[in-house]
Amino acid sequence: MLGLMMNTPLLISSIAEHGANYHGDREIVSVTVDNPRHRYTYRECVARSRQLANALASLGANTGDRIATLAWNDYRHIEAYYGISGAGYVCHTINPRLFPEQLVFIINHAEDRWVFTDVMFVPLLEAIADKIPNVEGFVIMTDEQHMPETTLKNVMCYETLLANESSEFEWPDLDERSASALCYTSGTTGDPKGVLYDHRSTVLHAYAAVTPDVMAMSSRDSVLPVVPLFHVNAWGVPYATLMVGAKLVMPGPKMGDGEALCELLDSEDVTLALGVPTVWLALLQYCQSAGKRLDKLQRTVIGGAAVPRSMIQEFRDQHGVEARQGWGMTEMSPLGVVNTLKAGLEGLSDDEQLDLAAKAGRGIYGCEMRIVNDEGEQLPWDGEAYGALQVRGPWICSDYFKLEGAAGSHTDDGWFDTGDVATIDPEGYMAITDRTKDVIKSGGEWISSIELENTIMAHSAVAEAAVIGVAHPKWTERPLLVVVKAEGQDASAEELLKFYEGKVANWWIPTDVEFVEELPHTATGKVKKIELRQQFKDYEWSA
Ligand code: AMP
Repeated sequence: MLGLMMNTPLLISSIAEHGANYHGDREIVSVTVDNPRHRYTYRECVARSRQLANALASLGANTGDRIATLAWNDYRHIEAYYGISGAGYVCHTINPRLFPEQLVFIINHAEDRWVFTDVMFVPLLEAIADKIPNVEGFVIMTDEQHMPETTLKNVMCYETLLANESSEFEWPDLDERSASALCYTSGTTGDPKGVLYDHRSTVLHAYAAVTPDVMAMSSRDSVLPVVPLFHVNAWGVPYATLMVGAKLVMPGPKMGDGEALCELLDSEDVTLALGVPTVWLALLQYCQSAGKRLDKLQRTVIGGAAVPRSMIQEFRDQHGVEARQGWGMTEMSPLGVVNTLKAGLEGLSDDEQLDLAAKAGRGIYGCEMRIVNDEGEQLPWDGEAYGALQVRGPWICSDYFKLEGAAGSHTDDGWFDTGDVATIDPEGYMAITDRTKDVIKSGGEWISSIELENTIMAHSAVAEAAVIGVAHPKWTERPLLVVVKAEGQDASAEELLKFYEGKVANWWIPTDVEFVEELPHTATGKVKKIELRQQFKDYEWSA
């Protein structure tokens, strides 16, 4: 027997309309490329999203079309989030830090029809324009006054596009399983893979995000997402804020600028801020050198990479801020676990609480997890046994866009294999111990070790090479190139590093080189990365 409840679809447009109706005067404040402090209300934001929806219909967009954004965190990008997804198109957020070849790959793979871009990324698009022939036009997210000279074809000005449209728009009554957003991840080997979110997963994820033991977000909060809108929908913050009516503050291009962040936190009364450890390191260093205390900030949610215990302690002791570690993935929308104290653990000493806080976190309703050994058998939650971490739930991907099972990312019984290795303790706190996926995460962004290895193998002095991620004080991890020299050949570290120039993005180039006699191998001849990481775990960077 079915229940007798309304089958109202969970749609992103309903979050927008809720925000505008119940919290219409709530502010959205942005630093943009053309305005140091833009402010307006939810009401205006949602009205402009409707104008954008009308503009896309005028351009001839069809339901399900992919429309790309290449932009920092600001109000126009939020309008794109709601205008594109709400109207039934797929908002494909692109990471501008990718190497040009990767940009070309994902724009073509996604079959983006239009690209919405910040002025500052126009040169990036100009350089690849002839390789993305299916893009029909480029919308520059600025006003006429700030429009750049460009060689791009079919260029439109965002403000002019909107000005011609009505702010009345009937959001379509979509199936809640309709695709809403697309984000490519390079978090595994090979080409980037597209994670295709839907309306239902997005709304459920936002519900989970605002709950007390996750982000604890309410209408009384002022929220600063320093995590980019091009990275897993800024952890869902654009949806969660409008769902509860929190003030939304965005740093635009000032993401990694400690001083600018400190100023924003203070002047906009930010109570909750979210970002990767590298960003908070910049902020904490600035506070230290300028003698500032973060008086208004109450909580930070830090994730995307392991959070140093010392960072959690500094937030707590120097600023009275609760730093919550979180773990998740692009494939998981991204929330998987968040670290808050469970009932019954209040008696732990300060030190013990910090030890606990340095773990990734504990489960959120909506994301089940398990750890398994090589045979696929479940391992105990004893805090000791470690194994492959697998997850499942309504906001976790069931596949990758246009890959149909080919990625080998899911188990036969339907769990997603995260590529992380973890322990889970009897209280349910999960800690990441290693990674099976062959990638390095530096400053919150992925670097493919395989690509770095393949590139350097073309150098005649290299017999064998492995690239591993090693802990780094600023970037969490940096790539270390470990090389066995070819017999009778010689090359200096500088020469090898120079060899990468022009072949990979500059920030991918390994930070150091170590020469060794031989590399450790598995029985099947693969380099034993786990052993190598162990060998270099206390590596001291030269610079
Ligand atoms: P992404 O898809 O770019 O968000 O990256 C997800 C990956 O980042 C995870 O699979 C982990 O390898 C890593 N990661 C995220 N959060 C944490 C954390 N708290 N501790 C350690 N690694 C993390």
